[in-house]
Amino acid sequence: MMEQKMKIKVLSIFPNMFNTLFEYGVLKKSIEKGIVDFEAINLRDYTDDKHHVTDIPGYGGKSGMVMKVEPFFKYYEEYSKDGEKPYVIMTSPQGIKFDNSVSRYLSEKKKLLFLCGRYEGIDARIEKIVDKEVSIGDFVVTGGEIPAMLMIDSLLRFVPGVVGDNDSVINDSFYNGLLDYSQYTKPYDFNGEKVPEILLSGNHLKIEKYRKKNSLLNTILKRKDLFIKRKLSEEEKELLTEIIGELYNNAK
Ligand code: SAH
Repeated sequence: MMEQKMKIKVLSIFPNMFNTLFEYGVLKKSIEKGIVDFEAINLRDYTDDKHHVTDIPGYGGKSGMVMKVEPFFKYYEEYSKDGEKPYVIMTSPQGIKFDNSVSRYLSEKKKLLFLCGRYEGIDARIEKIVDKEVSIGDFVVTGGEIPAMLMIDSLLRFVPGVVGDNDSVINDSFYNGLLDYSQYTKPYDFNGEKVPEILLSGNHLKIEKYRKKNSLLNTILKRKDLFIKRKLSEEEKELLTEIIGELYNNAK
């Protein structure tokens, strides 16, 4: 039986910002293959007044515009009508930080709804329908659209069939707590810098071992924090010992 299509909706006052998200590369293919069903909903369509107002000055004075909560609730209720409530992500700089594990977690949900704020953000009473408040980092952007696009792009890579070669997803940085190994392609010699010989050897076991070492080394050199956190496996300890030996021999 065909797996249930993943449904992703975003709620925004600028739904057209999402127009290009599914126009390129594997995300475009994911729609063509029928793996994902995506729709950007115009929040204004869920207002009840004649001017379709979605934001008004906040209570308390001196603060800027705040997004009204009712249109978000109205759409949420409509989207839940088929009996299945969506998993709701509110984009917000105050949320938990988006990373690879949040991305994988979200990729397992079958029905997602992203809420995009603007101005000062959404009225705090939105909380009732929010499952996770998620931030893309400790900085503020002008709206939730780019954060939502970024999260959708990342989480879809974990949905089976989206990235053709699953091996490439599990070797990518962070999947197993390490950075990816360095990549090389032709030409073999570029301005005198040659591709590591072992990659041309055709010996898959050796190549795999070389890549594991390279992955450890990249992590140590570029992301010490990840390396320090890591519980090294016996194999990794062995590989590190070899790396140190090689460095020592090269330095001699
Ligand atoms: N006054 C809010 C910021 C509002 S920014 C505060 O200081 O907490 C307007 C909207 O942009 C937010 O509602 C959210 O949807 C989005 N946004 C801004 N920065 C973000 C971030 N780091 N991660 C995710 N969404 C963000």
